[in-house]
Amino acid sequence: MKTLVWFRNDLRLSDNPALSRAAIDSDAIEAVYIHCHEYVKSHPVAPVRLHFIFEHLQLLGDELAAQGISLTLLEVKTAKEIPAAILKLAQQKSCDQLHINAEYPLDEFVRDKNVAATCKAAGIIVRRFHDRVIVPPGMIRNGQGLPYKVFTAFKRTWLQQATAVSWASPSSAPAFPKAVACKFDNAVLKKWFAEADDRVAAHWPAGEAEAHERLKDFMDTAIRHYHETRDFPATEGTSTLSPYLAVGSISPRQCLGAALHVNGGEWDTGSEGVTTWINELIWRDFYQHVVTDFPQVCKHNPMQTYTDQFPWRKDEKVFERWCQGQTGIPIVDAAMRQLLQTGWMHNRLRMVVAMFLTKNLQIDWRWGEHWFMSRLIDGDFAANNGGWQWSASTGTDAAPYFRVFNPVSQSRKFDPDGHFIRQYVPELAHLDKKNIHQPPPVNGYPLPIVDLVVSRKQTIELFGKLDRKP
Ligand code: FAD
Repeated sequence: MKTLVWFRNDLRLSDNPALSRAAIDSDAIEAVYIHCHEYVKSHPVAPVRLHFIFEHLQLLGDELAAQGISLTLLEVKTAKEIPAAILKLAQQKSCDQLHINAEYPLDEFVRDKNVAATCKAAGIIVRRFHDRVIVPPGMIRNGQGLPYKVFTAFKRTWLQQATAVSWASPSSAPAFPKAVACKFDNAVLKKWFAEADDRVAAHWPAGEAEAHERLKDFMDTAIRHYHETRDFPATEGTSTLSPYLAVGSISPRQCLGAALHVNGGEWDTGSEGVTTWINELIWRDFYQHVVTDFPQVCKHNPMQTYTDQFPWRKDEKVFERWCQGQTGIPIVDAAMRQLLQTGWMHNRLRMVVAMFLTKNLQIDWRWGEHWFMSRLIDGDFAANNGGWQWSASTGTDAAPYFRVFNPVSQSRKFDPDGHFIRQYVPELAHLDKKNIHQPPPVNGYPLPIVDLVVSRKQTIELFGKLDRKP
């Protein structure tokens, strides 16, 4: 048996179900990665994320080659070409089966279904594995057999499932079929790099080894205080593993396994830091389940249909000032500039800027969702859509529409000394910690783009008037 493993957002050798299974049931393995230009443009994949992916491919290609597995890099213009491209390669390489790790958003699901149909029609066995989540979609159901729309209830059942079944355990290192090491042909990759943006590469070294080093560092230090430090953007209080989880150079099971180890095997008791971190991994699973169970969210629809009546403003000038960190609200500008400069933003600030865009500027959450994807190195459709819909009060477990963060209060609470603002908004660096959150007029820094109190009140009134049963 010869197996073709199609890599996507699972760019690693360890604990990779599609690859591990191929190592068990094949005499030989081939690997492929497909760069689809239409997909990159339409989803959109941030240029910094593209660079990060390509760097991972370089490392993955070499590591696979050392195991005698050749990684072929294919390029297509449109998603429609993918089934034929995969089939052609499988036939050229005389593969009997194709292994993939499932991807849950609708476009990816449909793409894989088309590939499976084409391959099956040609006599190639297609096997799909669950990798991106700890507990696979479909396994978490309420008493009526329906998916959960609320996180707390989802989490309760998730914990029962995850602790009862071995899904949560990372697999042991695969023993690959004995083969002569080969050389990775990276000629195409060199060309691909020209489309990407390497400006934040120094912040984010690529690779499985780097991801595991970050995980170990976090386990050795910050995780025990995570519940106290995770909301403070000037503190290194979170794992910064999201880019690695997004491209799959580390698996969620490996992250969970490390956390359980620190916590003596306890899931939701023991160290509060560890259990709070595990809770975030469960949120991550939750949003992957949401896109599977409620695919309408993959078509730019709000989870709560009635919220689509909200009269979102279509003000491109105001939106552009938000994107560029020029709103005159220091914490918002610092966060938006962090995104531009590093390709990443702290979680607390993602919520602050998303609420500000939707609740104070009243701009459509889909504009913000798109901007984030086009800039984030950790861009992940499910987590991003979930985070935006939560902030805009349109989603599953959304913040109630009348609970609106005041960015200035958030700034005082979570950046009390103004260290984070000073780092990204140098125009305000001279201000003391009392003035920096809501500065007096400063040369070269814009005045606030909106009145926080008036706009908040107006948004709440507008939400309150929506017909909840359209
Ligand atoms: P840690 O705090 O160390 O958490 C560990 C891991 O848990 C993260 O790496 C991430 O994979 C997962 N996680 C943590 N919080 C969440 C959450 N709220 N939802 C889902 N997963 C979570 N995360 C992405 O990975 N990609 C995105 O595109 C993305 N977009 C977001 C957009 C908005 C508007 C909001 C509010 C949140 C978004 N998040 C996204 C979730 C969260 O902000 C990031 O996962 C987190 O900031 C990553 O930092 P970290 O790795 O240090 O996280």
